[in-house]
Amino acid sequence: MPELPEVETVVRYLRPHLGGQVITDFHAHWPKVTAPIVPEEFAECISGRTIREVDRRGKYILWNLDQGHIHIHLRMTGQLSVISPGEVGDGRHITAEFTLSNSRQVAFRDTRKFGRIGYMDDLHALESGLGIEPLSAEFSPEWLHRELASRRRQIKPLLLDQAFIAGLGNIYVDEALFVARIHPLKKACDLSSAEAGRLQEAIQEILKESIHQDGTTIISFGFGEGRRGRYRELLQVFRRDGEPCPRCRTPLVKIRVAQRGTHLCPACQVPG
Ligand SMILES: [Zn+2]
Repeated sequence: MPELPEVETVVRYLRPHLGGQVITDFHAHWPKVTAPIVPEEFAECISGRTIREVDRRGKYILWNLDQGHIHIHLRMTGQLSVISPGEVGDGRHITAEFTLSNSRQVAFRDTRKFGRIGYMDDLHALESGLGIEPLSAEFSPEWLHRELASRRRQIKPLLLDQAFIAGLGNIYVDEALFVARIHPLKKACDLSSAEAGRLQEAIQEILKESIHQDGTTIISFGFGEGRRGRYRELLQVFRRDGEPCPRCRTPLVKIRVAQRGTHLCPACQVPG
């Protein structure tokens, strides 16, 4: 599932194509793509509106309009691509299409069809469910240590909670906990200030490097016409169980934490 770096990659890809364009048409090939409202109602909200800018909040892609906001969640397999007039895009699995005033189209392609497109007059309802942005200046070692101190949950499920930190998912949480040498089952409030500092640094460094590599493609992440992320080569533990730890050569293991496959080094990340 796309996480913060993959969503940011899509935002950076879309941004130069969409700014200043008027949405002239919207068509849904899969009616549930705009659920809970019907596509006709969604189209009414957005047609004729100008796209001011493309932005990201957590794992949501935002198109900020001259009035209101479109939010897009890629979920498992959603992909966006901008198609110029006369260009033949990959027509398979398209669930929705926008047409812009420069005649370009933005196609939403989604094999699993869990991706969703929505409209909001303002972002209050979205914001209320989302925690801090991990690449913001507010996400400091001090902030993280202070917030962890009052939470008794295990660290991995807490980091996956979008209401705590927005944008992290299974891949980057496993990678960050490995780099910070923290066991995924450790209680948040038991992390020392040094551990919280290592974790904050690891999260930011890993996300930045992954954005630099256009994200991670494991199976399905892509954007544009056939473009893929390159961070997969740099993953240290995710889906590398059985391989030697890059730090100490102990074989990496896979356990289950909160119903999620979790990858770690049993020597570098000790419980406690
Ligand atoms: Zn190790």
